[in-house]
Amino acid sequence: MSVVVARTSGFCWGVRRAVDMVLAEIKKGRGPFLVFGPLVHNPQVLGALEERGVGMSMDPSDAEGGTLFIRTHGITLEERASVERPGVSVRDLTCPRVGRALALARSRSREGYEVVILGDEGHQEVRAIRSYAGGEKAFVISGPGDAEDLPRLSKPFLMTQTTQDSEVFEAVLEVMRRRFPALEWESTICESTGMRQNELRRLLPKADCVVVVGGRESANTARLASIAREAGLPVFQVESQDELDPKTLKGFRKVVLTAGASTPSWVIRRVRGRLLELQGENVGRALGAVRTMVLGNFHVLPAAVAMGAASAVVVGNAAWMPAILSGALALFALQGLHTVLEAGFSPTPGEERRAFVVRRRNPLTISYFSALALSVVLSAFLPPLWGAFLAGAVGLFAAYSLPLLHSSGAPPSGVRSVPGSRDLLFSSSWALLVCIVPYLTLGGPAGPPAVAIWSLQLVLLLMGRSLLLDLVDLQGDAMLGRDTIPLTLGRRRSEALFWTCAALPVILVAFGFARGLLPAPGLGSFAGSLWLAAGYRLLIRNPFPSELSARLAADGSLFAAGIVPFLASIIFEARVF
Ligand code: SF4
Repeated sequence: MSVVVARTSGFCWGVRRAVDMVLAEIKKGRGPFLVFGPLVHNPQVLGALEERGVGMSMDPSDAEGGTLFIRTHGITLEERASVERPGVSVRDLTCPRVGRALALARSRSREGYEVVILGDEGHQEVRAIRSYAGGEKAFVISGPGDAEDLPRLSKPFLMTQTTQDSEVFEAVLEVMRRRFPALEWESTICESTGMRQNELRRLLPKADCVVVVGGRESANTARLASIAREAGLPVFQVESQDELDPKTLKGFRKVVLTAGASTPSWVIRRVRGRLLELQGENVGRALGAVRTMVLGNFHVLPAAVAMGAASAVVVGNAAWMPAILSGALALFALQGLHTVLEAGFSPTPGEERRAFVVRRRNPLTISYFSALALSVVLSAFLPPLWGAFLAGAVGLFAAYSLPLLHSSGAPPSGVRSVPGSRDLLFSSSWALLVCIVPYLTLGGPAGPPAVAIWSLQLVLLLMGRSLLLDLVDLQGDAMLGRDTIPLTLGRRRSEALFWTCAALPVILVAFGFARGLLPAPGLGSFAGSLWLAAGYRLLIRNPFPSELSARLAADGSLFAAGIVPFLASIIFEARVF
């Protein structure tokens, strides 16, 4: 089975703007927050906002102080008159393109036109446009048949709901121009809707079936499904990956995946991931095993051992290996336990890794604690200083992660609210446990400058890896209330920082080698930077990478940076240490 994801899937400009504005208000803390009606027609977005303290009511008088948001679909003139209340700050999140349609309806109505709206009667946006177009004087039609049934009109003006199908509009226009020679019209179908529909039409000839992701109430999602249905293809309209029927879908070879304008990227990624899983089930269990390993954090253990082994061949010696193993077990355990804590209280109901971890919370927790216990046992065979550093690392993680137990979806506070604090803590812990502490406790042939260069390039590579993962899901992180570096710096600056983190290790190691501080196998660490660069290209080309492919693209760099120097030492210098 191959899965082609439409590039225009997911949040349109208007929905992204509205969600960003709500998140910005949450940050300012001007609560309580209430939306007059659903902000958008998507259950996951509404659920995530509710977890962040944004309620919803169909009655604006429920707002008692705080901030009242007006939904993206707009509101009627009568409703607008009722939202202004003393002590309530009103934030109008009506999409500007809907706002333009409302203004057009009002001006044409005032000019004496009989406004005909092509749209779904009862949809909030159509209710709003109709109220601006003179209320009962305006007509709502849903297709060419309704256009034929319109009464005689002397000065008709045709306009559309923003999410209408452009082909239906053309068909209606043909009928109305024939019936009303004096017709004036303007399509108010929004550009984003048109592009989404056109892309789907272009992809349909390649498809055996179409999966449409979006809220059941979403008009533009329903429109996408009907476009695919009209092309004679089987269509599966789902709100989440749980609604995919494996038995039915396994019969199709080419699946086109598209999504409505209010579908968050993490939901699209999960649906795509599930479809790829079905594909994986068709080719065997290997993919399932890799997925379990990566989503359960088990790959951290061999990655840390590989990086530790590389450190040992470049700046240390064979005596480091018990310490490396103890450190790798501790990193695996602490990082895993942090994931369990974070997943348990994450307010985003759809993240793939969170769902995986929550489903297997007990066995994973037992594995992580067992690894930590093994790490402590190993440390008994190492100098006492190692045990002291290990205890310090555990204490640091506990101080950072344990507050998650009581946060229950609240925005991060204390150190956790510092953008990138998690990434910096994890990156420096890796450098400490796989290089600096083994050197301090067990010594090595290299001098402190070499160890400093090698450790710094490890931190930078790990920061680059974290930045890459954060860049993949800016939207999901924003909904979660995470304070990541890309959310603080913005995409462009974060990308510049990512490339700096990917390039600097190469410069540092090349410098260390040129100055005779690092041996030639150290140059093998370039593989980590190359992997990161390739991973970035891969992920940027794919707007909805599955969690698994994102982690392979990012975490593969750790394996590359560890294994290649180690192998280079064996192959080119015929020595392990
Ligand atoms: S689909 Fe178009 S009109 Fe509707 S919210 Fe998005 S950008 Fe605005």
